[in-house]
Amino acid sequence: PAETLDELVALCKRRGFIFQGSEIYGGLQGTYDYGPLGVELKNNLKQAWWRRNVYERDDMEGLDASVLTHRLVLHYSGHEATFADPMVDNRLTKKRYRLDHLLKEQPEEVLKRLYRAMEVEEGNLHALVQAMMQAPERAGGAMTAAGVLDPASGEPGDWTPPRYFNMMFKTYVGPVEEEAALAYLRPETAQGIFINFKNVLDATSRKLPFGIAQIGKAFRNEITPRNFIFRVREFEQMEIEYFVRPGEDEHWHRYWVEERLKWWQEMGLSRENLVPYQQPPEELAHYAKATVDLLYRFPHGLEELEGIANRTDFDLGSHTKDQEALGITAKVLKNEHSTQRLAYRDPETGKWFVPYVIEPSAGVDRGVLALLAEAFTREELPNGEERIVLKLKPQLAPIKVAVIPLVKNRPEITEYAKRLKARLQALGLGRILYEDTGNIGKAYRRHDEVGTPFAVTVDYDTIGQSKDGTTKLKDTVTVRDRDTMEQIRLHVDELEGFLRERLRW
Ligand code: ATP
Repeated sequence: PAETLDELVALCKRRGFIFQGSEIYGGLQGTYDYGPLGVELKNNLKQAWWRRNVYERDDMEGLDASVLTHRLVLHYSGHEATFADPMVDNRLTKKRYRLDHLLKEQPEEVLKRLYRAMEVEEGNLHALVQAMMQAPERAGGAMTAAGVLDPASGEPGDWTPPRYFNMMFKTYVGPVEEEAALAYLRPETAQGIFINFKNVLDATSRKLPFGIAQIGKAFRNEITPRNFIFRVREFEQMEIEYFVRPGEDEHWHRYWVEERLKWWQEMGLSRENLVPYQQPPEELAHYAKATVDLLYRFPHGLEELEGIANRTDFDLGSHTKDQEALGITAKVLKNEHSTQRLAYRDPETGKWFVPYVIEPSAGVDRGVLALLAEAFTREELPNGEERIVLKLKPQLAPIKVAVIPLVKNRPEITEYAKRLKARLQALGLGRILYEDTGNIGKAYRRHDEVGTPFAVTVDYDTIGQSKDGTTKLKDTVTVRDRDTMEQIRLHVDELEGFLRERLRW
């Protein structure tokens, strides 16, 4: 695996996986652009998720809701009031930080002084942040007195009282920038699912339990985007809202934790690098009955890849009309605007109730980063040279096969290779690349580095011009394996089956 983010960032830029957003104008912080290889890898990951969670199941429907979101959706969801991170400024450097992130980076003795000053039991960072946000004036003073360091300067700072910062991006819909035209870019895809619950239910006549799956962009104005594509302001999520009967929620919650853990391993992440973390009660979001985070050992640390939450009837309960009649258990805002009853009629008893929901919510970009980190391998070759190879699962690799003509100045060879490329492309296994840049050694190295599992070379033997004067090897090609670097010779007619077997899901 990669040891540092830097070596991944370098590879991603060099080979065309991921670039800084708006780079030519100095970059727009917290945005990244996926290049020719990145877009393939990301699409492959999303397709694998969709295949597993929608196509291979009989209890799931898909959805693609809009990014622009009515203000009231994010009012009743609770985002307007609570989707905020604690933020603090250093008056000396004018740098701004997310409070919990800043505290995590402090030396032990600094933190100790802060715990003491805020009268919080040592070791519970979550409680410390909460205490600080309840007494911001005191907290700002305590941070300065405790000598909280500014990571930018490495020096103690002069800290402002911390305050909450709402992370939602606002925009105006229509030509007039007025309050009434205010809308949000969605901060999560989930709300699009909740507000379409009845539409999907009516259109599909589903019975509980069933789920709705969605992949799409989400936007958060993170105070300090960092760690490459780990924490960004525009990202993608793969979310499922799985609706169940109250009482069956704990079973389904456990089920989805197992299911998701299994899937990430199938994608190539090793079990040792995946850590399920059960959030203790004091860390739980106000709407959650239980949350298990799947943490991954990223090069920069052990951090959240996916969260799987039991959200009870909070979401549908927040957005439904007739709240009182439905006996919602969660604490929700009184909804005076909703026009739909987001509930389920028990086919046996005829009684209406609001289903509970289990939400597995994964980040696509964090998934891509984890796959890259896990696959990144430095190997010493027998001749003492080093090679970098990206040991991605072949099904996820951006390029499945590189078809390489041994020489570029022999039309019989290059034309043969182009025809072969077209034939393999038609198999529908993903991107097949006709590769005629550089010499063959360089082509192999490049494809090792971007994770291409197979390199197929067309040579003189292929076109029936073997050195020994025979045509025995006509229509055969060499196939080089990325991981073992071994080459075998196959007839082109066998090649199809060979690749199909190794690249199908
Ligand atoms: P964090 O605590 O790291 O900020 P979160 O708990 O706020 O994350 P959720 O709201 O649970 O994240 O979002 C679900 C998933 O969406 C996360 O597990 C993560 O994979 C992804 N995600 C959330 N915020 C970001 C971001 N700023 N950049 C990239 N991915 C993100």
